Amino acid sequence: MRDAEFFRNWMAAAAAVVEREADRLTELDSPIGDADHGSNLLRGFTAVRTALDAEGPAAPGAVLQLAGRTLISTVGGASGPLYGMLLRRTGKELGEAPEVSDEELREALDKGVGAVAQLGGAAPGDKTMLDALLPGVAALATSYRAAADAAQDGALATVPMQARKGRASYLGERSIGHQDPGATSSALLMGALADAAE
Ligand code: ADP
Ligand code: MG
Ligand code: MG
Repeated sequence: MRDAEFFRNWMAAAAAVVEREADRLTELDSPIGDADHGSNLLRGFTAVRTALDAEGPAAPGAVLQLAGRTLISTVGGASGPLYGMLLRRTGKELGEAPEVSDEELREALDKGVGAVAQLGGAAPGDKTMLDALLPGVAALATSYRAAADAAQDGALATVPMQARKGRASYLGERSIGHQDPGATSSALLMGALADAAE
């Protein structure tokens, strides 16, 4: 079973990896975006860490809902509302239980990713964060590490795609040949989850 501390550890690991990789995420966002993805997420996850330390939510669902609300209120870019929706919806699915099973988390994340797809209107192959999140969550049935690896493969697979959603879609065919920054950060978040689970 996974308690609130596990979820705080996941968010702390996410904040740490975003801090380490912020420059790379921003570099990925320069040829096909506006060069702010790393700084957006750094601001967001730093605020998540501060909010969790200040409020110390006692249930898994409450941890993720607070993290999601914080991302929405601190990240101006497209990724803030989308990741905010992912965490809020996942947290809502987990409810108020003090501990949740891996299976419950898998089902909740599945709903969370579905909510991201609905909010952003993107489909697989549109070169977005969904191209890492969908295979990642599908592989959760195997293990947390398999999910992280699948999300990483999904992020790499965005390179030859043409963007159909978000800023990168304005470039049309010129978006081909670049790795999507949001898919890359999604792989990092799934990696942080696997780290917290080990
Ligand atoms: P912005 O584009 O507003 O500057 P960010 O740079 O923080 O926001 O995030 C860009 C990332 O957001 C993209 O790389 C992509 O993965 C993701 N994204 C953008 N629009 C959508 C969408 N409609 N659905 C899913 N993901 C999206
Ligand atoms: Mg951007
Ligand atoms: Mg922006």
